[in-house]
Amino acid sequence: MSGQRVFVGLGSNLEDPAAQIARASEALRTLTTGRVLQLSSLYLSRAVGPPQPDYVNAVASFETKLAPLDLLDALQAIERAQGRERSTHWGPRTLDLDILLIDDLQLQHPRLQVPHPYLTQRNFVLVPLQELAPDLRLPNGDKVADLVQRVGHTGLNRLTLT
Ligand code: ATP
Ligand code: CA
Ligand code: CA
Repeated sequence: MSGQRVFVGLGSNLEDPAAQIARASEALRTLTTGRVLQLSSLYLSRAVGPPQPDYVNAVASFETKLAPLDLLDALQAIERAQGRERSTHWGPRTLDLDILLIDDLQLQHPRLQVPHPYLTQRNFVLVPLQELAPDLRLPNGDKVADLVQRVGHTGLNRLTLT
């Protein structure tokens, strides 16, 4: 059994965000089948919620044999290992890991909704997702490329590391 393909959104706006994303992607690699993981470019996005620094965002794609709630537990353990503190809703954080998609699964559980409930509204998720999987469709058939057209690129910049 090769497992399921998952897409995870990564975000950070505290304590060297680009380094937090790099470190988190290495931690995610331990959850994968065969230690294979694709990581999008890094994007800089304006924060949603209370005033706070800009975010660095990316999306990772990998195969895993973990069940959905076990995957969520593993992501929350990585967040904690990188100093995530839960305080203000949508407040600044060292690391946020959201499950965006798990194959064609649609799940409504008190701890876990898949696809991620705000996926279709957030360009900082949709743009890196499209970069990794240009032809991807959501479980309801919507094309990621069409959703990107709809949300546009306002407030989002691809980070170029020189
Ligand atoms: P948002 O959901 O708007 O991105 P957030 O990432 O700031 O907000 P958190 O405080 O990180 O929210 O998470 C709150 C709870 O969301 C988690 O404890 C988790 O149980 C739940 N949750 C539901 N669906 C998901 C999902 N697809 N990925 C990650 N967490 C989820
Ligand atoms: Ca989030
Ligand atoms: Ca989250």
